[in-house]
Amino acid sequence: MQDRFDIAVVGAGAVGGSLACGLSELGFSVALIEKTATGADCQPAFDERYFGLSHSTMVALQGLGLWSAMSEEAIAVSRIHISSRGHFGSVMMDARDEGLPSLGHVVPARTIGRVLHEAISERDNIEMIAPATVISASTTQEAAVLELEADGLTRTIMADLLVGADGADSQIRRLFHIGQKRREYNQSALIANLDVQAPNTGLAHERFIEDGAIALLPRPGAGYAAVCAVSNSGADRLMTLNHTEFGAYIQENFGNHISRITTVGERSRFPLALVRSRESVRNRLVLIGNAAHYIHPVAAQGFNLSMRDVAALLETLDKARTRGLHPGTLSVLQEYADWRKQDERAMVAFTDGLIRIFMNPLLPSALLRQQGLLALRYLPGLRGLFARAVTGRLGRQAALMRGVPAAAGNAHG
Ligand SMILES: Cc1cc2nc3c(=O)[nH]c(=O)nc-3n(C[C@H](O)[C@H](O)[C@H](O)COP(=O)(O)OP(=O)(O)OC[C@H]3O[C@@H](n4cnc5c(N)ncnc54)[C@H](O)[C@@H]3O)c2cc1C
Repeated sequence: MQDRFDIAVVGAGAVGGSLACGLSELGFSVALIEKTATGADCQPAFDERYFGLSHSTMVALQGLGLWSAMSEEAIAVSRIHISSRGHFGSVMMDARDEGLPSLGHVVPARTIGRVLHEAISERDNIEMIAPATVISASTTQEAAVLELEADGLTRTIMADLLVGADGADSQIRRLFHIGQKRREYNQSALIANLDVQAPNTGLAHERFIEDGAIALLPRPGAGYAAVCAVSNSGADRLMTLNHTEFGAYIQENFGNHISRITTVGERSRFPLALVRSRESVRNRLVLIGNAAHYIHPVAAQGFNLSMRDVAALLETLDKARTRGLHPGTLSVLQEYADWRKQDERAMVAFTDGLIRIFMNPLLPSALLRQQGLLALRYLPGLRGLFARAVTGRLGRQAALMRGVPAAAGNAHG
């Protein structure tokens, strides 16, 4: 059993797991520490949700050698229909207009978890330590130090760099006394999987309603994964409905935009807030994914944004190594943080803008909503911006997001 690693990653969710695979490709030794037992049904990161992955996330997963196994259970999204109940002026976003084969893909979160854990178990330079409890975490000039409890034993691990990828309620962030900026939306997301009569054709829907928004992501086969982001009081009410009543609620909101709903699955509820860590890097420490930023799921961008964190971190660490710098060097991590700042701000502004314009029932906002849709429809520049945000092509792209594995990207400068 080894106790010294190049990098220790706490949290083996979609972000920590993808990062570990990328680090392993680059030849770093990795300790991947997860509190939930591998493959457990209760793993919160890989639940009944379906993730909408942007085109560039799919390309990055391809670059990490993970996509082909995921693609077997994925469906391509060719168009997104954006509309607002009670307003005319809907918008159809089409992959062909963007010159892309698809706008993105929808993949079950469980598939992402399974593929990641299979890949991790095959890598000799990743030690997965799960289930494990982090007892303490600290840094010295020489190393990051983690004290863990796993298999009933206490174990101390040292690494050049500690990565906190342990989600929105990050223990690593708390152990380092890093504060967070938090804004409550007073909304919750309800998710449920629906079957419908007609097989789907890769068409996703985003419909703004009086009380929020409902996204319907096509599921492989037939049906949709529904994400309803509504006020907390609306969510309380929706949680009391039985399956048939909830199906009728969705059907009523979409009318004949979708075919007849036949079956409705279990609902789960997620509280929504904008949470940003006040710092994302320190000497020998970096926070990524939900640990660094937890954004509203209205545009299905949380994991996509985080995948760009992963790609940028891989590229930064790889380049630093060629300069003879170890991965925990503060100046290296600061380069990464500076790189990611703009994308994070843009994505927060983008999702916040959608919420302010489309999910506010007050009258001026209802007018804005109408104008927002019309602007999206008739202003090609704005539409292009929206499409680039949704497909993950805003700002400086890491090589991996263009399909070039980090090491190769570095070799080509
Ligand atoms: C309803 C909803 C729908 C969404 N849909 C989309 C979508 O369609 N597309 C998209 O891009 N994004 C979507 N997102 C956002 C996406 O879920 C997140 O951005 C993404 O899952 C973040 O992953 P993560 O690995 O950073 O965090 P998490 O998924 O929270 O994973 C954290 C991991 O760390 C582990 N962990 C936690 N604490 C500890 C600890 N102390 N020690 C060890 N391990 C620990 C957890 O068990 C977990 O495995 C959605 C979010 C919600 C709420």
